[in-house]
Amino acid sequence: MTKQIQAVRGMNDCLPTDSGLWQWVENQIRQVVAGYGYQELRTPVVESTDLFKRSIGEVTDIVEKEMYTFADRNGDSLTLRPENTASCVRAGNEHGLIYNQQQRIWYMGPMFRHERPQKGRYRQFHQFGIETFGIEGPDIDAEVIMLSARLWKQFGISEHVTLELNSLGSNAARAHYRELLTAYLRDRKDQLDEDSIRRLETNPLRVLDSKNPDVQAVILDAPKLIDHLDAESKQHFEGLCSKLDQLGVAYRINPSLVRGLDYYNRTVFEWVTDSLGTQGTVCAGGRYDGLVEQLGGKPSPAVGFAMGIERLVLMLQTLDLTSAVPDTVNVYVTSLGESAELYAMKLSEELRDSLPALRVQTHCGGGNLKKQMKRADKSGAPIVLVLGENEINEQVVVIKFLREDKPQVSIVRHELIAFIENYFN
Ligand code: ATP
Ligand code: MG
Repeated sequence: MTKQIQAVRGMNDCLPTDSGLWQWVENQIRQVVAGYGYQELRTPVVESTDLFKRSIGEVTDIVEKEMYTFADRNGDSLTLRPENTASCVRAGNEHGLIYNQQQRIWYMGPMFRHERPQKGRYRQFHQFGIETFGIEGPDIDAEVIMLSARLWKQFGISEHVTLELNSLGSNAARAHYRELLTAYLRDRKDQLDEDSIRRLETNPLRVLDSKNPDVQAVILDAPKLIDHLDAESKQHFEGLCSKLDQLGVAYRINPSLVRGLDYYNRTVFEWVTDSLGTQGTVCAGGRYDGLVEQLGGKPSPAVGFAMGIERLVLMLQTLDLTSAVPDTVNVYVTSLGESAELYAMKLSEELRDSLPALRVQTHCGGGNLKKQMKRADKSGAPIVLVLGENEINEQVVVIKFLREDKPQVSIVRHELIAFIENYFN
């Protein structure tokens, strides 16, 4: 037998059994962003490799070891986008959306990172994110966080996520802190792992991000960036905290939250959960005031976040919060005999004309009533219409209830639409 070709490792099919949940999640997201007046920006999944090197930073996990980079047929180095902030800034600069303007942008789509696949970590995964441009004050940081908080509320998971917050200050403050931290870590080099020792010289702030408990113990007493902020950043951070307090958003200040990408300054935040095991961050973001200029545009303040949709979906499944996801089918239409078959198709069309939101599945492929009822059951439909020669002659429709203990009823043909409409209301 010919060997079957499998999907690429770490890249998943979204099966018909799951796509309903995904669509529902995506629709809720669309509704929330619309409620804040954000507009969608769709960019290509492939960009010039330099875009990510210049924005994310050379000494980051993503650029060092996670990117899908290849030479196209002209020899240009291209990369499957590992995240979308750089692409949004690139597109914003290219189309003049940013300079001297305010923008509130959202996106959703696949991202690609060559990581070790495990629960909540894949090589093709999906992010929903927002990016705002042109607004300097902490009011927009607060809005960005409120928008994410509203999503948790919408999905009913507010109690299962917590907000962690930190400030990275200005570049200058960070450079100064970097020296303090490097000195502190150098003195304790013997307690660091190999990865952290390497980072110590290239990107010492990333040591704070280490998941190794031994390294974390060393970090506990390290100097804290939040104690070395420049005056403006400190004020910005206090402004944000006070807004969140007044808006009733709880947060925890986490001084070792630094984020894995180089472009952040001032506000950084993560929404974390303990319902997913080790892959506990569902949403992460912050301010990146220098990136627009770094990518060749006129300077513009910016803040945003990215949310991992797989992790969100996993949470909803783990917490059993998927009951609001619409069933696949509302009504299954069966028919017995050749003339009834055509009658059933016409009747189904009529239902779709009158009730456009109704999900109607018409039985195809013949067979006896038992076989058709089996298919009806599998479709998930709560009601089945039964149409035989008798029913057609008498202008009635028999309705069976599949999910309730209720006897079948016979409805006069012209009352059918009202009956169905009423049933699903
Ligand atoms: P982690 O620390 O889990 O590797 P990260 O800091 O690399 O996350 P970001 O680049 O900030 O993640 O991406 C934002 C969000 O996208 C993450 O919080 C997570 O929910 C999701 N995400 C990131 N990488 C993956 C992946 N490989 N598979 C699934 N989701 C991911
Ligand atoms: Mg990562």
